[in-house]
Amino acid sequence: MIEIDGSQGEGGGQIIRSSLALSAVTGKPFKITKIRAGRKKSGLKRQHVTGVKAAREVCGGAAVGAELNSSELTFIPGPIQTRDFHFKIGTAGSTTLVAQTVLPALMMADQPSSITVQGGTHNPGGPPFDFLERVYLPQVEKMGPKFKAQIESYGFYPVGGGKIKIEIQPSESLGRLSLMERQHKIKAKLMALVSKLPLHIAERELDIVRRKGKWHESECYPIEIKNSPGPGNVVMMELNSGNVNEIITRYGSPGVRAEDVARKTFRDAKPYLAWDYPVGEYLADQLLLPMGLAAAQGDASVCSEFVTGPLSLHATTHIDILKRFLDIDVAVDELETGVFHVRVNPASR
Ligand code: ATP
Repeated sequence: MIEIDGSQGEGGGQIIRSSLALSAVTGKPFKITKIRAGRKKSGLKRQHVTGVKAAREVCGGAAVGAELNSSELTFIPGPIQTRDFHFKIGTAGSTTLVAQTVLPALMMADQPSSITVQGGTHNPGGPPFDFLERVYLPQVEKMGPKFKAQIESYGFYPVGGGKIKIEIQPSESLGRLSLMERQHKIKAKLMALVSKLPLHIAERELDIVRRKGKWHESECYPIEIKNSPGPGNVVMMELNSGNVNEIITRYGSPGVRAEDVARKTFRDAKPYLAWDYPVGEYLADQLLLPMGLAAAQGDASVCSEFVTGPLSLHATTHIDILKRFLDIDVAVDELETGVFHVRVNPASR
């Protein structure tokens, strides 16, 4: 039984999700204590409970402690099942994070499957659906599996009501992924979404982002979302360099001026615009898991690597969790100030 301290490093929900994903793939049971001790309200929240139940369903496993606010969980995985799964969070909790909990097992299964997840699709603190669809999944596809991701309705905090579906064509083994540089200069697509709010909010946000980055009006897309039960506002800067796509996201909220949301979005994008590394902060922590699974197959030629900015606490915590389940080495070298080379290899024997 692998024992995980849920308060280590970042001390948040990613430790649980990654442990579930890795347990389902490797067949190794685990026990986690001090769940989300690093957060103001510790313990399992709805999104995490749904993630545990989803993992239990996908691998026919058993879980003790899969309840709201639980601070301990024991998970014993079983054989991977493949069919059309439906998971309902019941709040605006992140559908993309629940999806990422079960995708690793399903993308390495022996039969195709699909998952439908209901909840939030654009949540602060998690990847928006667009990031999953156009940033994360295209990179994982380069390793073998194929995905078709669709959004049926949008779910914004706090109302939720979103629905996403991902169809998965698995690949029983994973190939290597290398993202060492950008293929070409960034092409930008600037989007601002509003649901049940005036479109001028999106237009004002885009005007600020466009001016700050000296982009053209033709690169701006104010979008009115019609299929969401609640209000919402999101600014997304999609930065495409050919071999890698990044999306920088900020959320509007009541009492915060549209201009401030736009300024903060541009501020968040500044490091990625200023440096030349291909992989941004969030993609870095999310790619570690599929790269780790690929390396754990033990073939020395399946060594993945990428160049990124300073690793977040999420990423370093993720590396520690990966090493608990997988026989891999992760090397991180600073190439120049603020630019890092990450290599995920089978463990050297
Ligand atoms: P907690 O409530 O404990 O913070 P959580 O389950 O919501 O838990 P975290 O542990 O904080 O989640 O993990 C959040 C994950 O979402 C990380 O993998 C991070 O890369 C990703 N993420 C957060 N914000 C974004 C964003 N704007 N774009 C893409 N990915 C994001």
